[in-house]
Amino acid sequence: MGWSKSEPEPKPFYPFCDELIEDEGVILKGQKIVVPKALQREYANLVHSGHLGAEATKRRARDMYWPSMCRDIDDIIGQCNICHSTKSHQSREPLLPYPVPSRPWAIVGTDLFEWHGMIYLVTVDSYSGWFEPNTVKDTSTKTVVQKLKSHFSRFGIPDMLISDSGSQFTSREFKDFAVSWGLHHTMSSPHFHSSNELAEKAVQSAKQLLEKSFRDGTDPYLNILNWRNTPRDNTLGSPAQRNLSHRTTTTIPTAEALLKPEILDPERIQHQLPEKRQQQKKNIDKSSKPLIPLQTGDTVRVQTAKGYDKLGNVVKLADEPRSNLQKGKNTEETDTIFLRCQLFQQHQMLTCFPLQQP
Ligand SMILES: [Zn+2]
Repeated sequence: MGWSKSEPEPKPFYPFCDELIEDEGVILKGQKIVVPKALQREYANLVHSGHLGAEATKRRARDMYWPSMCRDIDDIIGQCNICHSTKSHQSREPLLPYPVPSRPWAIVGTDLFEWHGMIYLVTVDSYSGWFEPNTVKDTSTKTVVQKLKSHFSRFGIPDMLISDSGSQFTSREFKDFAVSWGLHHTMSSPHFHSSNELAEKAVQSAKQLLEKSFRDGTDPYLNILNWRNTPRDNTLGSPAQRNLSHRTTTTIPTAEALLKPEILDPERIQHQLPEKRQQQKKNIDKSSKPLIPLQTGDTVRVQTAKGYDKLGNVVKLADEPRSNLQKGKNTEETDTIFLRCQLFQQHQMLTCFPLQQP
């Protein structure tokens, strides 16, 4: 998978020659696997599967190395239609970061959602951000409890389970389950309506992953695996590192040494993760501000009910700021309509809209 020494030494690696070591036929730069030219494009595409934003995609690629890696990733994202067309599916971050306990599966959120006619239950751990999306046959207490039990049998019984006040969570049957499993169950109330934000954020992430996998025909399970292995940074690690204390193997080559179990400092996670999440929200707010004014003739991407999936040209500028008149390229001659809508310029489209951060 890495570049083997039997191949001629590629020129871009000359400046790093001294740092390169060979380990069982694989070339490493530190602990990063050096990817040969022939495989660089493939691996750049691989780390972008699931369509994380540019920064997250680069962090996802942290265990590999080639000199133009960041530029190659930017190129791929810049040309990625799925990223552009699903832009409107990005939802807002919670206003306040939800609490982070000092270990995995202590505070867990759960919620139901519908996507393409299927019902899903999502169960999410606050400490790691690790979420489990499950298709369910119905929204009954029995079905929901069955799924929750399967997660708790794997990761342990949480100190606190947070849900909304849907009928499946208020039923006698659910109360009985909570009592018999020693589970403290709390429901978001109108007075504290943000308490289920943990699960709501996971629902957004799950929907985005499903939608993007559906649109480019990639395997949603592989995309979730990748998402779970995308780090925030070296201190906070990835959801897999926070939840399982190790990286899990993926389709991306990882040096053996990096796959060994390693416990990340729980105190740092407890204090730094809420700050990071808050910072991320600020960045999203900043990046969502309208940018440079449009000119007549500019090619733009237009938001429809399906997302930013339509191209058009600006034919006339509107009087009001931040709105423009445009004509869709796909509009038929006989049906020339002028739409008033919020637009994004071609070069703005090249900014990959980020998926919720792991
Ligand atoms: Zn993409």
